[in-house]
Amino acid sequence: MTSRRELRRLPYPAELPRAKRSLGQNFLIDANIQRRIVDSLEPGPDDEVMEIGPGVGALTRHLAGRVRRLVLVELDNDLAARLRAEYAGEPSVELINRDVLDVELEEVTSDPAALKVIGNIPYNITTPILFSLLERRPRPREIVLMVQREVADRILEPEGSKTYGALAVGVRSVADAKRVLNVSREAFRPIPDVMSSVIRITPHQPPRLEPDEEMALRNLTRAAFGQRRKQFQRILRDAYRLSLEQTEEVQSGLGIDLRDRPETLSPESFIRLTRALTERGYAIAGTPPPAE
Ligand code: SAM
Repeated sequence: MTSRRELRRLPYPAELPRAKRSLGQNFLIDANIQRRIVDSLEPGPDDEVMEIGPGVGALTRHLAGRVRRLVLVELDNDLAARLRAEYAGEPSVELINRDVLDVELEEVTSDPAALKVIGNIPYNITTPILFSLLERRPRPREIVLMVQREVADRILEPEGSKTYGALAVGVRSVADAKRVLNVSREAFRPIPDVMSSVIRITPHQPPRLEPDEEMALRNLTRAAFGQRRKQFQRILRDAYRLSLEQTEEVQSGLGIDLRDRPETLSPESFIRLTRALTERGYAIAGTPPPAE
């Protein structure tokens, strides 16, 4: 059996397997960045961690032996077989050879609310991964993900900025989010076309909204950013079929100017507006258009 100390020192393979583009494979070869990403999750000896898309173990080797349980979810059969062999002697490391989007957190752990999630993930499924982790209850305790830099900007930029929209509201209405570091293209093999950033997402504990209010917030966000050039007042009148008097009554006491456009409203304002609407029993009429 490989000792914990040896596991942590497993060398990064000198020869990488041929990357499969269809699986978004860009392997992170910079050991210093690998370590910084793992450290940003603050893994401890009592933690259960799920790693999405471990590849050839760039992050895995800094995590194995450091946490109570490490569950690797890898879709690629060849890489999964390789990881299985490499960590065969380490009972704390488990492998699920499946599409992460088909894996329920309840299959990974009996306590999803305590789970920490990490991954240098395929960029083409960043949004579905994010929402599979955040549009559920309970949400994981911590999430550290490598994403395309432009996606990190869309999540983190303040309201009023050009990139602020449905993604920022979706993430920041249920979690705190921050950038851990930017990663240059040269840190990967093969070198990707886009720049990357690592973000840390900490779901609010306890959540700020009830489950039905979260659903209402998602509908409101979709309606708002489906028509982002319209004033909020207009959106409420069109999507919720509210009269001008009703929108004014909703607005009173909220401290939000509904003549503003959606992109000027903070996630906090979206939360307060959602509460004001659901308290009065106002809901979207029909299916809102997809967000821009
Ligand atoms: N973590 C490794 C690293 O940092 O070098 C690999 C990162 S690579 C960008 C993405 C990884 O996710 C690949 O290993 C790929 O096979 C895996 N992957 C792709 N689609 C997946 C899916 N739907 N579910 C689980 N893993 C997936």
